[in-house]
Amino acid sequence: MPVNTEGYKKIKKELDEQSVLLVAVSKTKPVADIVEMYNMGQRDFGENYVQELVDKVQQLPQDIRWHFIGHLQSNKIKYIAPFVHLIHGVDTEKLLSAINKQAVKINRVIPVLLQVYISKDETKFGFDEKELEVLVEKISGNKNEFTNVDIRGLMGMASFTEDNALITAEFESLKKIFDKVQPRLSECGYSFTEISMGMSADYRFAVAAGSTIVRIGSLLFGERNYHP
Ligand SMILES: *Cc1c(COP(=O)(O)O)cnc(C)c1O
Repeated sequence: MPVNTEGYKKIKKELDEQSVLLVAVSKTKPVADIVEMYNMGQRDFGENYVQELVDKVQQLPQDIRWHFIGHLQSNKIKYIAPFVHLIHGVDTEKLLSAINKQAVKINRVIPVLLQVYISKDETKFGFDEKELEVLVEKISGNKNEFTNVDIRGLMGMASFTEDNALITAEFESLKKIFDKVQPRLSECGYSFTEISMGMSADYRFAVAAGSTIVRIGSLLFGERNYHP
């Protein structure tokens, strides 16, 4: 399936006007499609699988900003730690610690987002509001623990549903949680300015609710052959 170049230009313009960052989700798509998008000026790409990402990085321009948006396993952090631009889906304290540890090893500060569970879908990952609260307390109580991650904000996924009111409510709940924990995390020295929410089917609802980063795949690259 060809890259949707007209769609890309339209979506990019629409998001630029609202100062929302577009991450083009290229998982399962060939390097040639990424090059095509790159040649139109796109620099932020998102991938879900460590091996696929590492393979692609070697074949593509160095100035691409790679976003890891999948479910990251601790034992694979080391493969992406040297170059990853932003890890979106940090969903446990254990994973945050492991990323921090790896970052210390390579003397880097790795930007991350904490994933919050806002939907009704059982298969999704993330902290619930209480768990996030506990983590934030812990972080602000011990400022020397997470020195080599920069917690840039939150990430979330809405339910896979036709119910637009529900989608909006879920995105608004993430924005509310963000506003609540933001002062404490910025006080700890983290940037904490980003909310990564919105995909092909629901990005407009996400932007209306206050998203600063959207992750769009199929609208740009066409449908994927499988849904991971
Ligand atoms: C695949 C994926 C996307 C992109 O999904 P589309 O519906 O193709 O836009 C966004 N976010 C995450 C976490 C994904 O896994």
